[in-house]
Amino acid sequence: MFQPQPLDTASIIALEDQYATGVYSKRQVALVKGQGARVWDADGKEYIDCAGGTAVASVGHANPMVLRAIARQANTMITCQEMFYNDKRALVMKKLCSLSGMSKVFLCNSGTEAVEAAIKFARVLTGRTEIVAAMRGFHGRTMGSLSATWEKKYREPFEPLVPGFKHIVYNDIVSLEAAVSDQTAAVILEIVQGEGGVRPGDPAFLQRARELCTEKGALLIFDEIQTGFGRTGKWFAKDHYNLQPDMLCLAKAIGGGLPMGATLLAEGMGAIPPMVHGTTFGGNPLVCAASLAAIGYMEEHHLPERSARHGEWFLNELSKIQSPLIREVRGKGLMVGIELKQKVAPYIAALMQKGVLAINAGMTVIRFVPPLVIPQQDLGIVAEKVAEVLSEAKADE
Ligand SMILES: *Cc1c(COP(=O)(O)O)cnc(C)c1O
Repeated sequence: MFQPQPLDTASIIALEDQYATGVYSKRQVALVKGQGARVWDADGKEYIDCAGGTAVASVGHANPMVLRAIARQANTMITCQEMFYNDKRALVMKKLCSLSGMSKVFLCNSGTEAVEAAIKFARVLTGRTEIVAAMRGFHGRTMGSLSATWEKKYREPFEPLVPGFKHIVYNDIVSLEAAVSDQTAAVILEIVQGEGGVRPGDPAFLQRARELCTEKGALLIFDEIQTGFGRTGKWFAKDHYNLQPDMLCLAKAIGGGLPMGATLLAEGMGAIPPMVHGTTFGGNPLVCAASLAAIGYMEEHHLPERSARHGEWFLNELSKIQSPLIREVRGKGLMVGIELKQKVAPYIAALMQKGVLAINAGMTVIRFVPPLVIPQQDLGIVAEKVAEVLSEAKADE
């Protein structure tokens, strides 16, 4: 059988640098293999993966249930557009609704598409065009979802964006009340702001958003693309607050690592007219089979509970670290951030040197979103390495 020659780190980096557009700021490491919560680079160096494909690899790399499902489905049927019915799609739709308490599903291929669908559905269902989003919110990078995203560096190069978007102060009820009116089609919120710095929502704020939307006839959209599927210690972060949105956006961990997104609608929302929206790859049997397997694994192994337990332990370990650099340690489940009083890039680089992959959330927060299967022992090692990196920095200064 033909096997391409494996590339070494330098060749991989040279090729990507030559051919990629440059839209990503890159780290000088080429990851080629993963198993559970560990990954390896092309030189064979091992890392504990707290980047997890940005909260995607929740069931772990090379998860045996997911890879069996993918192999079996690839051998049966990979593609089937939604014009036709399909067994795996039917089952995944049912599963998503039973887990979330929602009642209808639109399947797509990424987070930003899940948000685009929600924005379009909100317009169609309400006949209104105003959308209220939050400062520090992140909802994706296509033109509609980008209009809901707050960060200037993502938005400004692409203005003018979609009209009708307003940004309120997150967790500020006064700002929320001033923005939501009978012109509002939807309010879109993350329950723990991810890219914006791992900032959990205030229960009173989210509760008020629910009430106001109901009162004004606006739809409440929860963007749980990052917080869904056990990440915060419950199946969905909304379950910590006992709140139901009118629409729920999901992606990241939903497909066991395969690209998938979903926009779910609550009961009684009315039907979306035919031809109003759609996507070629949405609901393809391969990702649906992977998603069913990933969700099955999460259920069997109680990953949401595990995330709650290990997340609490990890947060506690990190909170013990004494460093004048730390402003705050916060999070929910295995979505944890350390806010520093300065830029985090050098500390993330130092952690990588020590065999720990973490990512930033904004300029000043180190974010940990490991596979939910990560052993507690590995989290202990991560906490140790973080302590080392922050104390060495102090010694340098
Ligand atoms: C990652 C993310 C998105 C965008 O998802 P993509 O798959 O990158 O398009 C949207 N919202 C939130 C909260 C996210 O974390």
